[in-house]
Amino acid sequence: MRKKLFFTNGNALQAGVAYCIGQNYAAHAREMGSAVPTSPIIFIKPPSSIIYDGENIILPKISKNVHYECELVAVIGKDCHNITKEQASDFIAGYGVGIDVTMRDLQAEAKSKGHPWAIAKGFATSAPISKIVPASYVSSNFFDIELYQNGSLRQKTNTSQMERSVEELVAFLSTVYYLEEGDIIFTGTPEGVGPIARGDKLKAVLRGYVELNVGVE
Ligand code: MN
Repeated sequence: MRKKLFFTNGNALQAGVAYCIGQNYAAHAREMGSAVPTSPIIFIKPPSSIIYDGENIILPKISKNVHYECELVAVIGKDCHNITKEQASDFIAGYGVGIDVTMRDLQAEAKSKGHPWAIAKGFATSAPISKIVPASYVSSNFFDIELYQNGSLRQKTNTSQMERSVEELVAFLSTVYYLEEGDIIFTGTPEGVGPIARGDKLKAVLRGYVELNVGVE
């Protein structure tokens, strides 16, 4: 079944590819033992990995260390290729909050061997996404995002702290890919990532706009 993206105003789009940005906050790059990369780190989750508010992340049996990463999500509203950052906002349909669920142990092993992150990052249920707030409802390009685990605050930032803005990321991705309506951009996580366990309740917040609540099984 093809996944959709549901908007807060009742609209929906068929979900496309989720393009994800690695290490887009300096403090998170530091906690991962890295420097901010000189060119963007990009990986992809398949649209089938999306889950919605009220659903559960299913812990894969092959990992012993699955992490949450709370991220601002942007949704492409019109197909584009080779656009500039000045043009990018015209191609963004809306914003939400998502969790880039990551098998950290498998990612570390892949990193050490120079292998892709496709399994560690793109497994089933690895892309919880909130309802999408239409861009026309948004008053600022900058958002406060927060992640709570069983009621405790784990991550909090303002997206002004991103190394590369949403518009820069859309422009860069458009030079590499044909971006299509319904494609999703996970814009990177701030510091404070950590492990999840069966029975956890995660709440991701796009402050003032929308929340995402998921369980873990
Ligand atoms: Mn991430």
